[in-house]
Amino acid sequence: MKIVGGKWSNWSGGVVCKPKAFVAPKDEVELAAAVRTGAGPVRVPGTGHSFTPLNATDGTIVDLAAFDGLKGFDPHTQVATFGAATHLWEIGPLLHPLGVGLKNMGDIDRQTIGGVVGTGTHGTGPTLGSFSDAVAGFRLLLANGEILHCSPEENPEIYAAGRCSFGSLGVMIEIAVKVRDAYKLSEKNFLMPIDELWEKLDDLVASNRHFEFFWFPYADVAICKSLNETDAPAPEPRSAEYMRARGEKRGADANLFEWINEILPYAPFFLRRAHRLFSGGMSAGDRVRWSHEILPSARTTRFNEMEYAVPYEKGPETIRRIVSEIRRRKINTGFPIEYRTVAADDVWLSPFYQRKTATIAVHQYHRVNTGPLFDMCESIFRSVEGRPHWGKRHTRTRAEFAEIYPKFGEFRALRAKLDPEGKFLNSHLRTIFEG
Ligand SMILES: Cc1cc2nc3c(=O)[nH]c(=O)nc-3n(C[C@H](O)[C@H](O)[C@H](O)COP(=O)(O)OP(=O)(O)OC[C@H]3O[C@@H](n4cnc5c(N)ncnc54)[C@H](O)[C@@H]3O)c2cc1C
Repeated sequence: MKIVGGKWSNWSGGVVCKPKAFVAPKDEVELAAAVRTGAGPVRVPGTGHSFTPLNATDGTIVDLAAFDGLKGFDPHTQVATFGAATHLWEIGPLLHPLGVGLKNMGDIDRQTIGGVVGTGTHGTGPTLGSFSDAVAGFRLLLANGEILHCSPEENPEIYAAGRCSFGSLGVMIEIAVKVRDAYKLSEKNFLMPIDELWEKLDDLVASNRHFEFFWFPYADVAICKSLNETDAPAPEPRSAEYMRARGEKRGADANLFEWINEILPYAPFFLRRAHRLFSGGMSAGDRVRWSHEILPSARTTRFNEMEYAVPYEKGPETIRRIVSEIRRRKINTGFPIEYRTVAADDVWLSPFYQRKTATIAVHQYHRVNTGPLFDMCESIFRSVEGRPHWGKRHTRTRAEFAEIYPKFGEFRALRAKLDPEGKFLNSHLRTIFEG
């Protein structure tokens, strides 16, 4: 948790708050007391990798660090239970000796399991759901100190709502996750001319377990990446300590990327050349690794991000419109647009609720004003019934959420029942649920 001079800040530095109190309960009794008696709003961050002010509060920040590690594993159902503050980089080394692994992961492994479940964090793959979708059950501490077990059998409504609820219903203490047999993945990286990509995209998505592409908008090629299961030999998996350090490792490429991002705002004439340079240089070699080592990468250059989930069939048209507007308006950005796919799920506020999805993410270097790029993109995302990632920048309001989420009214009613005094609501969440 990043606390400097009594202030909490998120990963990008775009959200900063000064709470009255930081508390680090050692057990459930102390946690219940902290939630019941702490000054509101009570917020429970993971590692602060969200770009939205989900964790901002002038009340109480609860540090859940004591609630980590593997709590149980049932080999028959292949369900593993973790303390909610367990980092993703810890999970692979914990599961691998049991012969199992997570079904999917996103771009990085820095976050906590509570955080990624909290916002519906996802990777890529048309048959693969988000972290919220993989949850088999959880224990939830309510504002009044009561602890509920939630699963399809016990408190099924809270199970359906709570799997993507960004700490608005209560504090998740333990989370049970559906896992699968351990597996290796073979990664292929290649460049494809953008016009050719549109002809092949559906096939590439359907024929690979994971497929994604990055498009620097002033270049005419896509940087493509596919991953598929393999029996080919892979290096022995590394220790948790190695995985912890690996995600913060900074290579020469990252230094060059950051340096160019520092100068680009003052050198717009260099945009096209920079995007061509990045497109050629960012395609890594092919390799085979165990899933938890190959799915996440290190992201050491700070940025802010907006990502929307759009209906799968509208994905290509949406990203083309975005790139064409970036070029027409000559918007200055040093980052690529990321395109992924996610399977439909049944989690009430999941961006993938009952919808096969393409996700489109735009980024800006952390020192660059996000307004021109993000405002333009959001108006396009709105026009295609896009649903924002809860942890990434958006400006959507309660009335709009009621339109794009069929279960939004039921979620609000349940939330008000579980937390009648609004103990967990900061001003950002009030805008979403009450504004
Ligand atoms: C470099 C980078 C790469 C990223 N890559 C991806 C990606 O590939 N795919 C993707 O979908 N997203 C991605 N994200 C977004 C990120 O995964 C989400 O914002 C995620 O929620 C962050 O997890 P965290 O542990 O940092 O949680 P935080 O950001 O600290 O918190 C997120 C929410 O979860 C809640 N929460 C956390 N723990 C608990 C708990 N125990 N009980 C109740 N509520 C809790 C918090 O209250 C908050 O509302 C990325 C972000 C960054 C900065």
